[in-house]
Amino acid sequence: MITFQGIAVSPGVAIGKAVVFNVEGGRVPPSYCESTAVPAELERLDDAIRLATVGIQESSQGVSQKIGVEYGAIFEGHLLMLHDDSLKKRLREAVEKRRFSAEYAVYDTLGEYAAKFQNLNDPYLAERASDVRDLQNRLLRILTNERMQVRFSEPVIVFARNFTPSETAAMDTHFIQAFATESGGPASHTAIVAEALHIPAVVGVGQFLHHLASGDIVIVDGDAGTIIIHPDENTLERYERLQSRQQSYAVDLASLKDLKAVTKDGTEIELLGNIEFPSEAEDCWNINADGIGLYRTEFLYLGGEHPDEQEQYEAYRGVLEKMNGRPVTIRTVDLGADKLLEKPDTEGDEFSSYYIEEEKNPCLGLRSIRLSLKRVELFRRQLRAILRAAYYGRAKIMFPLISTVAEWRQARMIVEDVKEDLAERGVHFAPDVPIGMMVEVPSSVLMIDRFVREVDFFSIGTNDLTQYTLAVDRTNKDVYYLYNSCDPVILKLIHMTVLAADGAGKPVSLCGQMSGNPIFTPLLLGLGLRHLSMAPALLPEVKKVCREVDIEQCRLIAQKALEMEKASEVRNYLRAEYFHLFPEMDGEGVL
Ligand code: PEP
Ligand code: MG
Repeated sequence: MITFQGIAVSPGVAIGKAVVFNVEGGRVPPSYCESTAVPAELERLDDAIRLATVGIQESSQGVSQKIGVEYGAIFEGHLLMLHDDSLKKRLREAVEKRRFSAEYAVYDTLGEYAAKFQNLNDPYLAERASDVRDLQNRLLRILTNERMQVRFSEPVIVFARNFTPSETAAMDTHFIQAFATESGGPASHTAIVAEALHIPAVVGVGQFLHHLASGDIVIVDGDAGTIIIHPDENTLERYERLQSRQQSYAVDLASLKDLKAVTKDGTEIELLGNIEFPSEAEDCWNINADGIGLYRTEFLYLGGEHPDEQEQYEAYRGVLEKMNGRPVTIRTVDLGADKLLEKPDTEGDEFSSYYIEEEKNPCLGLRSIRLSLKRVELFRRQLRAILRAAYYGRAKIMFPLISTVAEWRQARMIVEDVKEDLAERGVHFAPDVPIGMMVEVPSSVLMIDRFVREVDFFSIGTNDLTQYTLAVDRTNKDVYYLYNSCDPVILKLIHMTVLAADGAGKPVSLCGQMSGNPIFTPLLLGLGLRHLSMAPALLPEVKKVCREVDIEQCRLIAQKALEMEKASEVRNYLRAEYFHLFPEMDGEGVL
């Protein structure tokens, strides 16, 4: 039995068989599979060869059309090589006899071919070595990029060096019980998507994949952030018990569904859901959320297709109708940083997508509202879709990552312009949709006294606010120790925002990951928040806390936390307060 510690990002425990995807920037460390996983690995290999064949044929046609058939013919060599019987046989043997994973079989076998050509001291054959490398890269790219489209026929736990948010979004939740990655940070969008899909997940484990083979029995503990490979009998039994305890706890929480989140002194707290996919509106409704506080619309793009106005309109309208008159805050596209689109295949596509050229500092670059203001036609298209859909429900529009008043005004003006345009064309739309902004950059907090004059509502995004205030990448495991939303500096910024918004009579909510952690609930209520938005699965537990506290007690907690100097001090204090309130929770697992 070997145990690894990572960062817990999506709760729950899974026990099952591993599938390992193991490629890192062109280098593939040795990775193996259990005998039971051999057929699945062979199938992956065959799929990759099939897809590579199609890709090579397309490249050949494209090049022939652009610069001539004689250049297109270069790819014929690749096709011949790919379908060479002896190469195929060697690849299959590597999986069947040596138990290599599909990636490692490709890496090892083609690597050996390339080295042989290279060493022949013949310039013509040395050239062939680069063709082999080309083929190797193409197959490896397919085996990594297509990995989430792999069809599983039994429940598995997937492991990789990293997953992008879109790969996570494409996970087949029917069969994927959990996942864990070597890299990744606590508030990465990969983690957020895992939470939305209710898949237990651990990220930032560091190098551990070489200890693991596809088919191994593993445990992923998404509450404690641990991965246990080949668990012994005692551990297995302990985790099976924990799983069943968690199931009965979930039943307990479900009994709160029809009750309001009212504190003991009678203060009503609005609990809203965060969603990434339209289908999650159903989860919000089923859990009896008061509405949707954050709809991350960029995930419509990250799924692969780039939706046109009508497709967006239908998605938004569907969510609004599902929520049946409860408020839905639709955030305009927040692409960039760790939410990137694939490079378009043809040049023309660039103008119809939100693809961003590689940047040195993507978190500080062309992301979010900045991208919308740059690709104005795409922004206008989204606004038209939202305003039209808003006719069928209670929509609000929210801009992400506003960092200056000028940026806010520019975005706001475009909304007015789009409204005028719709009115002129006689299209049905809702003219009085409230327009608000995310508070997730320190500059917007420092200028909050100006924003309150013009903005209809605010939502504090502590994920980015923590990243930008403490200058710490939210996706990087190596600086994870600095990434703390309960750092006193973040508490101060939240407090400043709430005081200013309250003073101006403007509603303010909090929709960062902090909202869904019950340990923080008394603190957030004490800081003056009355609207919290979180992944729907986390809402019942937060409701339970709201119903057990009174506001005065929460104020004292917040006051004390605000006086502290270190995040660890705040966290330990809040944990102690929480376990004081709920002593029965102070055991293994659950939190
Ligand atoms: C945030 O930054 O806290 C937030 C809610 O936005 P996102 O996580 O989508 O960046
Ligand atoms: Mg954000």
